[in-house]
Amino acid sequence: MSAQESPSQPVLDVQGVHKRFGGQHVLRGIDLTVRQHEAVVLIGASGSGKSTLLKTVNLLEQIDDGRIVLAGDDITDPRADVDAVRARIGVVFQHYNLFPHMTVLANVVLAMRKVFGAPRAEAERRGLELLARIGLGDKAGEYPDRLSGGQQQRVAIVRAIATNPELLLLDEITSALDPQLVGEVLDLVSELKAAGSTIVMATHEMSFARRVADRIVYLKDGVIIESGTPEQIFDHPQRPETREFLARVS
Ligand code: ADP
Ligand code: MG
Repeated sequence: MSAQESPSQPVLDVQGVHKRFGGQHVLRGIDLTVRQHEAVVLIGASGSGKSTLLKTVNLLEQIDDGRIVLAGDDITDPRADVDAVRARIGVVFQHYNLFPHMTVLANVVLAMRKVFGAPRAEAERRGLELLARIGLGDKAGEYPDRLSGGQQQRVAIVRAIATNPELLLLDEITSALDPQLVGEVLDLVSELKAAGSTIVMATHEMSFARRVADRIVYLKDGVIIESGTPEQIFDHPQRPETREFLARVS
């Protein structure tokens, strides 16, 4: 059954997930449920496990214990088809999202063509429409290095959503950008959220998190210390660890 057929079924259900790198216990029993159209923002110090958590969901890292369920399917079952799972999830990282040797349009249509077998004309029509929507229609034929970092990240985002993924994972997508370029990228994320995307995002942009997140999850040393609405976490944190973290970053 898909998430569309069962509105009460979470899009993502992370259950008791543990991850170790050698002797280092990096995720220590993570439970996280994300429902359709929700935006969940992961906050926490560098090294707290945010990226590792996102990577386990995209099956870029194997978990040592627990389960991850995507719209009813246990994707951490060893029999799961990794490529099929990844095709259902859009991902954008901090760096190097676009293939430098391909034009902007070729980047955007790649997954539509290769993963979903869309005919070239149809994929290019949708690609151009997406680029026009973010004001970059005139850049379709350019190579990524001719675009600003903010433009490149916006292209990476529309590439990630071109195939209508069930879930969008965004990992510090503005951390490498010059400050004046951050806004245009976060505005696009806000638009996707408003349009109904289901998003899990790691970010240090606290004012954005407050404005756009349905839920904030504070991670420390691989443990969810506290989660709640932006008001709960930012204005009334219950745990001393959360208060200390917020005092340091604000
Ligand atoms: P965050 O994204 O919150 O900064 P990470 O998930 O990147 O945190 O890292 C959590 C911890 O796991 C860190 O101590 C990091 O050094 C370690 N780590 C991450 N990836 C690897 C890896 N591939 N091999 C070994 N250790 C790793
Ligand atoms: Mg990280």
